[in-house]
This record gives sequence, structure tokens and C-alpha cells, in this order.
Amino acid sequence: MTSGNRTKREYPWGHDRRFNSYSSYFRQLFGARVQKVSIDAGFTCPNRDGTKGRGGCTYCNNDAFNPSYCMPSKSVTQQIEEGVTFHKWRYKEAVSYLAYFQAYSNTYASVEVMNSLYREALGYPGVVGLIIGTRPDCIDDEKLDFLQELSSKCYLAVEYGIESCYDKTLRRINRGHTFDDAEKAVRSTAARGINTGAHFIFGLPGETREEMLEQADIISGLPLTTVKFHQLQIIKGTTMEMEFRQNPHDFELFSWEEYLDFFVRFLERLSPAIVVERFTGEAPPRFLSGQGWGKKRTDQIVNLIEKRLEELDTWQGRLTSK
Ligand code: SF4
Repeated sequence: MTSGNRTKREYPWGHDRRFNSYSSYFRQLFGARVQKVSIDAGFTCPNRDGTKGRGGCTYCNNDAFNPSYCMPSKSVTQQIEEGVTFHKWRYKEAVSYLAYFQAYSNTYASVEVMNSLYREALGYPGVVGLIIGTRPDCIDDEKLDFLQELSSKCYLAVEYGIESCYDKTLRRINRGHTFDDAEKAVRSTAARGINTGAHFIFGLPGETREEMLEQADIISGLPLTTVKFHQLQIIKGTTMEMEFRQNPHDFELFSWEEYLDFFVRFLERLSPAIVVERFTGEAPPRFLSGQGWGKKRTDQIVNLIEKRLEELDTWQGRLTSK
């Protein structure tokens, strides 16, 4: 079959977008649109409370990414209720929901506490599963046993903040764990049949563009179900903002035009088996130190990347052997 003068390909992910898209993955899995509803269940973080470190990762300000209805003072049920109302108004067609435990480290508590909060979320009408964001050093066999058991009853994904495959970067941004910790967490989670996600940031200080690109090969070797990427944004009030002001030349922030080129090259090297949830991040402008990408919105960048893939007649995984 041809489209214009171009052959229409069959991609391994079973639809004709040029990357393995998250929304299509869920449509295939559930047969309908599924919407994530974020929750701040009051978990904390060992990189803030002194267990692993104090002050947290240098770029971290959870408020910049937390929807306004997410507050630990509200119950899980109330947050889901408000999230569902918000999304119903915005996307009329959503029928099922995934409770997204997003803020801080959502396995940083006892199994009893985790069980009670997760079950509360699963008890809400229309919630078909859980996505649990956490750190690679906040998981152990007891928690994985529990999550494995829960994942036999509903959709469940554990999403690890990894941020970089390089220990020099992880030290620099004060993550408080190594890439080896991350790899072990990912492998032991996936080995139990639990959907496993990861989050990475492009543009962290001290990394060259080539090193960032080479991470595609490393990430492709991990047993990940989904992955999220975003460009580094300097968020107000963070340690990184201070560092940026003191040494701006230490940072090579991407313009959106540079990011388009970079991301297309990255996708070509990324395994086609990994579902890509996000290409970019977008902190609300009031949190941004500096201009960011001005008026360019996430959906515009996604459209531009897809257009570029089409123009270059390339796709996710074109340069991998897997
Ligand atoms: S692990 Fe997450 S919550 Fe904790 S300091 Fe780092 S980015 Fe913030």
C-alpha cells in the first residue's frame, strides 16, 4: 500500500504512527481510552528526609508537576473524584481510569500502608489499575511480592525515576542512587511480570549530546514496558536554579528546534518494543526560571516530531537490530 509516493509500513506495534505510542497501547489493552488520574497520597522521599540525603535531587520541585487537585490533605478517593471530574470535562470520552500515584516515592512506606492506599484507589468506580511512581532504591522483595500479587488482579505498572544512565550525572544531580540500582530494580520488577516504566531527563549538566543519544542503546537493553522522556527545564526555587544562575555555561539546554532533531535520532535507536509515553515535559510557566520553550506546547512538539519522522521516512527502532 502506498501513501503519496511512500510505502505504508506495518510497524511491530500494530498501528501506523511512527512510534510505539502510549495512548494506542492502552487502546489496544483496554479497547477504549483510559485516562490517568494523579494522586498525592502523602508519601515522602528518602532523598529529602535524610535517609538517603537532604534537599533532594537538584532539579526537584514536585509542585511544578502536580495537578492542583492533588493534595495529601485530601483522601485518595477525594483526589480521584476531583481528577475524574476534571478529565470528564476536558476529554468527554474517557471511560476508565488509572490511579497514578505520582508525587514523591510511592513505595516508600510499609506494605500495609501501600496496600491500604492502593486498595482505596482501586475501589473507586471506573479505576481499572494503578501506576506507581517511585525511586529504584524504594523497592524490595517484600514490596515486589505484594505488587506482583496485586498485578494479577488489575493493570499495574511501577514507574522508576532513573533520569540518566550515567553515574557521574546521577551524582551531579544528587539522585542518591546509581544506575546499577536502577537496573536491578527494573530487572527484578519486570522478572515478576509487573509492567515496568522509567523516566529520563535530557539536557542534564555534564552530559554531551552524544552521551544522551547513546542512552538509547542502554535503555533498549532494559526490560521496560514504557518510558517517559523530557527535556531539562530549570524550575524556580531548586538547587539547580541556583547552579544555573552561577554557572549558566555548565548547562546546554535544548531549544525546541534542537530537541526535535535530537529526539528523532534518539527514537531511531530506541527499541521498538518499548512504549513511549512522553517526549517532552511542560512545567507551568510560573514555575519556570527563564523562557523555556515559550508558547510551544507538548502536543505541538509531538506533532512536529511525528511530522519530522514522516519527512525523513524513519521510525522508532529503525536503527536497532531488535
Ligand atoms: S527522588 Fe523524586 S521526590 Fe525525591 S528528591 Fe528526587 S525527584 Fe524529588
